[in-house]
Amino acid sequence: MWYSKNTSEVLKDLNVDEKIGLSTEEAKNRLSKYGENKLASKKKKSIFQLFLSQLADFMIYILFAAAFISGLMGEISDAIIIVIVILVNAIVGVVQESKAEKALEALKQLSTPKAVVKRDGALVEIPSEEVVPGDIIIIDAGRYIPADLRLIESANLKMEESAFTGESVPADKDANVIIDGKVAVGDQHNMAFMSTLATYGRGIGVVVGTGMDTEIGKIARMLEQEEEDSTPLQKKLEQLGKYLGIGSIGICLIIFLVSLFQKRDVFEMLLTSISLAVAAIPEGLPAIVAIVLAMGVQRMIKENAIIRKLPAVETLGSVNIICSDKTGTLTQNKMTVTKFYADDKLLKIDALDYKNKTGRLLIDCMMLCNDATYSENSKTGDPTEIALLEAGFRYDITKESINNRHKRVDEIPFDSDRKLMSTVNAYNDKYRVFTKGAIDSILKICNKLLLRGELLELTENMKKDILKAVDMMSDDALRVLAAAYKEVPSAHINIDEIEKDLIFIGMMGMIDPPRLEVKDSIALCKHAGITPVMITGDYKNTAFAIAKELGIAENLDQSISGEDIDKLNDEEFSNKVKSLRVFARVSPEHKVKIVKAFKAHGNIVSMTGDGVNDAPSLKAADIGVAMGITGTDVAKGAADMVLTDDNFTTIVSAVGEGRNIFSNIKKSIVFLLSCNLGEIITLFVAILLNWDSPLLPIHLLWVNLITDSLPALALGVDPGDKGVMDLPPRNPKESIFGGTTKLMLPLNGVLIGALTLVAFRVGENLYPNSVPHARTMAFVVLSISQLFYALSIRNDRKSIFQIGIFSNHFLIIAIIVGIILQASVITISPIAQLFKVYSLTIKDWGFVIILSLIPLVINELTKLILRNKEK
Ligand code: ATP
Repeated sequence: MWYSKNTSEVLKDLNVDEKIGLSTEEAKNRLSKYGENKLASKKKKSIFQLFLSQLADFMIYILFAAAFISGLMGEISDAIIIVIVILVNAIVGVVQESKAEKALEALKQLSTPKAVVKRDGALVEIPSEEVVPGDIIIIDAGRYIPADLRLIESANLKMEESAFTGESVPADKDANVIIDGKVAVGDQHNMAFMSTLATYGRGIGVVVGTGMDTEIGKIARMLEQEEEDSTPLQKKLEQLGKYLGIGSIGICLIIFLVSLFQKRDVFEMLLTSISLAVAAIPEGLPAIVAIVLAMGVQRMIKENAIIRKLPAVETLGSVNIICSDKTGTLTQNKMTVTKFYADDKLLKIDALDYKNKTGRLLIDCMMLCNDATYSENSKTGDPTEIALLEAGFRYDITKESINNRHKRVDEIPFDSDRKLMSTVNAYNDKYRVFTKGAIDSILKICNKLLLRGELLELTENMKKDILKAVDMMSDDALRVLAAAYKEVPSAHINIDEIEKDLIFIGMMGMIDPPRLEVKDSIALCKHAGITPVMITGDYKNTAFAIAKELGIAENLDQSISGEDIDKLNDEEFSNKVKSLRVFARVSPEHKVKIVKAFKAHGNIVSMTGDGVNDAPSLKAADIGVAMGITGTDVAKGAADMVLTDDNFTTIVSAVGEGRNIFSNIKKSIVFLLSCNLGEIITLFVAILLNWDSPLLPIHLLWVNLITDSLPALALGVDPGDKGVMDLPPRNPKESIFGGTTKLMLPLNGVLIGALTLVAFRVGENLYPNSVPHARTMAFVVLSISQLFYALSIRNDRKSIFQIGIFSNHFLIIAIIVGIILQASVITISPIAQLFKVYSLTIKDWGFVIILSLIPLVINELTKLILRNKEK
């Protein structure tokens, strides 16, 4: 048992040196020996199974039966065509579905957690699947544990192990204990388990088991159900699909019954009704929506946004408030200390004297109470802390040397609730507590002040002077960190006693310039009806100075601090929140309150976060956004979207992309439904008027094949319209068929149906003795008018010339392919015979083309009128 051995035994057994870790070579060997560090997952459907599942549909069974009966009755050509159509349909379905699945699979890969391991003596971040037994893993708060570990170092480490123990209170961990006998997982205090979460402190562990060879692996089978993520729109479409299905079958039944009364050929009308039902039910719709979503999501990855939950794509388009962290998201997170305050003076950092007692303590505190590393060629850790080390490096003090001189014996890590961090360090045979943090938090725990070598009581007046200096620094947008210390007799003091009765030393102020591109994004947000809001742990004046520079806020009244939020009751806060743009000195709980207050006014809110405690606010927001670089695994786990570049601008482009995806899905749906309506109307009217049937079953199936597949998909991948950010956010409650759609959809259906009937009647008049000839004309108009009509659906305001006729290459290809196929069917004689159609004359062609252009022209004219009216 790993937990009953001491750490050096464990390391020896695993043949690894704690300081160096495994070599890349050895890690590779072990990876091939032990396999990837992941849990076995469900088997995926094979292509053949996917294919079969396409055929497992009631309507398809009926079609098969129809083909079989046609064959028996000697209509071999009908039978062959029906079977071909079914097979081609199924193949298109398989291609679409596997494409959608692959895209989603790629997404999953991207969002798998990473692990920090020591390899060849250096710290590297690798995908947790590549972790092998013997790897040395670095643990800090907010990270998931990538494999089963035996701890070899721990500092106040706490672990959330509820998956094993059901206990939601985090378990304390200690690398130094050795446990005898056989104990339960929950009692193995020197171990950390795959998939559990470090909530506090830090530590180092060596991997003792990976993949299915872990505790979680043992119970993996129980956790295997994967959740299906479908978006609200997908769910609504599923409903709609059912209604449409029932509706179409109803209409087909009526057509069939009416034709029975009319004493038509029973079998032919049965086949026609079934084909119409197959053509009218948009069975390709779910796959198209899935592909459009998946492809949009892939485009977003290229723009640095990873969507973790598919429904987020839709919600993104409706976001009207973007709450963003300041540090690193709106700013560059490249900090440089420029000023310091000590001994009652605010000076440039060059003026700091390390020989002076206060100056020396200020540097010692900022460097010792610090977890970053800094050398000329490598910097790791929190940029705030790196900047502090850099300030010390000016005096040739390195983190390593100062750490060796004053060993750390205890610590309380930084967290954004306390806004403090403390360490206890050895000074010869004495010990010093060093605390650094937000100035307000530091002043609350200090009762003395160091002034030119003297210890003085910290009076209210002195505090006022200090805060004046803070205001001066923060009005210049400097981020201020304060330092305090005290001497203690022993290394072991009670943790509650550490951050208490401290001596104020001084402060350092650092610049963190805004990101260059953010100012434009903020302007774009406002133009698009989205309100940007800054939420930060930083000091109010610092936050406001940056917000003003970026255009988020104009005057100080638009900002509030966490402390002031606490003074307001819920109602007061809810009333005030509308006018606020900057929330400073907030803790993670405030973030939840802010999100809820905004949401209560009917806003769709996106919120960013990175820390362990940010998960609740990310979940509360409509779109939780986690930072990919600085974010903890917990924040990423709770988020709907992860930014791989931590940049505000990425959120704004994701919103634009979200709006585009939604409008593209809408285009496909409207196209499919209006075309299918056209088909139903054609047959329904013809039968009611007791005409000859204008279309044969195979014509319907064929039109369905060339219009429902490629053109509908091409509309779904329409290139993004820059104009989407000229409009206000979409009201999420508004139906996809709202606005002009509720009129244009049926209108276009009627139009397509009417034109097909016109073509048929004209054909009958031109060729009085040849119904097939008239059918051919109807057949061509039905398919080609749909293809042309697709062009004008691309935008419901702009004309096809304004958006560029050829700007959607896929659609152009789909239309050309459609026309060529349609023309081949009627001109290549063996195929024409199968379809029972005739080759058209040039004059016929001219006529059908003109008819087919009418829906396009009418739609364009309508848009023109609408545009003029809007002007
Ligand atoms: P944002 O929320 O926009 O990212 P932030 O980085 O200032 O801003 P927090 O990380 O919550 O937010 O930090 C809050 C405050 O705590 C900071 O303004 C700073 O004064 C202090 N602080 C930040 N990092 C540390 C640290 N490593 N040690 C001690 N104090 C810190």
